[in-house]
Amino acid sequence: MHPLQGISARYAIFIASILLGAMGLVLALAGYFVFAGTNELRQELTASFSSVQDTYDVQALRASSGYLGDRLFDPLYNLDLTALEEEIARIDAWLSPRSVLILDAAGRVITDGSADNPDHGRRYGIPGELVPGQALIQDGAAGRLVYFTIGHGQEIAGYARVLLSDARHLSLLAALRTEVEDAWRGFVDRFVAIAFVSLLVTILVSLAIGLRLSVSLSRPLRDMSRVVEQYAAGNLAQKLPERSQDELGRLARSLNQMASEHERARDQLLRLANYDELTGLPNRHLFYDRLRRAIGRARRARRQVALFFLDLDRFKAINDTLGHDVGDDLLRRVAGRLRQVIRAEDTLARMGGDEFTLIVEGVCDEFALQTIAQKMIGALAPPFAIGERPFHISVSVGIAIYPRDADALDTLLKHADTAMYAAKGQGPGSSRFFTLELQQLVHERLELEQAMRRAIDRQEFELHYQPEVRADDGRLVAVEALLRWRDGDSLRPPSSFIGALEESGLIAQLTPWVLREAGMALRDLQRQGLTDLRMCVNLSARQFQQPDLPDLIEQVLAGCDLQPERFELEITESTLLDDTLSQSNASRLAERGVRLAIDDFGTGYSSLTYLKRFDVDVLKIDGSFVRDMLEDQEDAQIVAAVLALAVGLGIESVAERVESPAQMERLSALGCDLIQGYLVCRPLGLQDLADWARQYAPGQPLAVRGSDPG
Ligand code: C2E
Ligand code: MG
Ligand code: MG
Repeated sequence: MHPLQGISARYAIFIASILLGAMGLVLALAGYFVFAGTNELRQELTASFSSVQDTYDVQALRASSGYLGDRLFDPLYNLDLTALEEEIARIDAWLSPRSVLILDAAGRVITDGSADNPDHGRRYGIPGELVPGQALIQDGAAGRLVYFTIGHGQEIAGYARVLLSDARHLSLLAALRTEVEDAWRGFVDRFVAIAFVSLLVTILVSLAIGLRLSVSLSRPLRDMSRVVEQYAAGNLAQKLPERSQDELGRLARSLNQMASEHERARDQLLRLANYDELTGLPNRHLFYDRLRRAIGRARRARRQVALFFLDLDRFKAINDTLGHDVGDDLLRRVAGRLRQVIRAEDTLARMGGDEFTLIVEGVCDEFALQTIAQKMIGALAPPFAIGERPFHISVSVGIAIYPRDADALDTLLKHADTAMYAAKGQGPGSSRFFTLELQQLVHERLELEQAMRRAIDRQEFELHYQPEVRADDGRLVAVEALLRWRDGDSLRPPSSFIGALEESGLIAQLTPWVLREAGMALRDLQRQGLTDLRMCVNLSARQFQQPDLPDLIEQVLAGCDLQPERFELEITESTLLDDTLSQSNASRLAERGVRLAIDDFGTGYSSLTYLKRFDVDVLKIDGSFVRDMLEDQEDAQIVAAVLALAVGLGIESVAERVESPAQMERLSALGCDLIQGYLVCRPLGLQDLADWARQYAPGQPLAVRGSDPG
């Protein structure tokens, strides 16, 4: 039984016991006092009654003794026994004495009124103080004796001796006692009846009170207990009725308030735990839960689940350039647009950063899934208005399908991610399905990554150097440091690993080494007499964004005792675009006097204002234009335009991958300052380069030599 369910019964019993106890006590006291009072009254009554009766008998005899004496005279005088007996019978009937003796003058018994008269002749002493005509009363052992004379005046015929009997008032007393006892019994009966009725009333009253208590106290308490149990079980929706204004009502109100607060806090927690605060979309946690359920359903129904992995293109650049507030705003709006093009039953979640996922159930053919991806890509196509200017952002989408691509949740997610990376490789705003070949590529990439880690540990990387010479007089001006990986017997070119180094972030570990190695090489070359040489070091966007880059370079300059203008950093056009860290590094390095070259110029997006703003020193025309410039008119025009731009801006120009004298002549004619390429020299190890430089004589036919693997 519930502990509170018995509370009303217990209250009722408790109250009933108290009432019954009190009532029993009152009844017992009343009974005792009534009984004691009645008993006392009865004794007093009996006593006063018998004394009244005695007095009455004596007085009656006293009053009538003269008359009786007169009446008995004649029969005594004449010894008329019959008359005497009649008189005695009359006295008997009147007073019921114990005995009436008629004595003669000498005190001898004449008659006692009976026929056999056994005391006849027996003599009794007559008290001397007896006065004729008056009764004398004597109390003796036998009882109360009344004497009176029988005669007229002084003439005395005899005496009457009456022994008064208490039999009469004994019987009266007995009757009285019976009456009193009857009355007592009647009282006891009524008392018991009253007690019974009182008990009944008490029980009924107790029940009524118990019932009332149950309604006003026990039931609300029971309700509260039940609701509190529900709260403990986590069901906070239950509310208590606030019946009254008393403590119970207040308690119920407090409990309701507590539950509401709890509910609010729990809902908030639930929201925080399951939804992304920024976009309001399900977060990673809820996404995993939904995907797990979707896979479970699909497994039972033998259906498919498609998982889309979305990643915004170049979002980091926007975040870094325009600040996190703008980035947040953009993410919110991107989420809003994506939500508009998906079905309500599909789960679009934000995994963090600029990554989103979409779970689609019940759509199985690739064409339909492709359409969904295109819809999402299309939703982001119209520019976003942020601040004053329109902003373009695109998304790369990877798609993996359960159970075709993976059976387990984590693998499915990994595959969708892989497909997304592959889509990114196709260019911004692309989508791609996961395939086994992709997995193979990923596998190879992972292996490469591990091999590169080992290579860093084993110091298998080395730098080769390729000269840059003046186009007009062929003078050696600079060398470019180019990374190589000595993998066993082979020397691997950067094209086979630099991308993987970039993506894995391992390249950051190489930055200090490359800078130091290049610095030491330059110092070495200077010591070997090549004092006017410049050292050009390639830095990827990621390397150029390293916050400690200016300090690293400072250390190298100081450590190798180099002038800053002897150091030239080659970055690509996009490195400076929309990236505050790169821009601040560029400014700091320019201030320091370190030279900045834009590599592969013409292949990417470039901002011409940036060339001036960041004090760019060199433009390196991309080798692809140089390669075909003699045959391809367009390439020739691009080369000419770049060179004109460089001349216009007063920036030094370098043409890379120059392989033929004709190319060199043409470039020289277009005003190109420096030439780099196999025509001059292939990239060489440091000592080979020093040897080459010693032998190199400007103006002589350029020999193609070196170790470049490409
Ligand atoms: P890049 O900076 O444009 O370097 C020029 C590339 O052209 C080098 O390839 C060089 O060997 C090659 N080359 C030079 N002359 C000729 C020629 O006449 N004909 C042909 N076909 N190729 C020529 P490499 O050494 O394979 O480097 C490729 C790219 O790797 C470089 O392009 C550069 O962007 C990157 N790279 C090289 N070293 C590093 C490094 O230390 N750090 C970073 N981040 N990137 C590097
Ligand atoms: Mg370069
Ligand atoms: Mg280049």
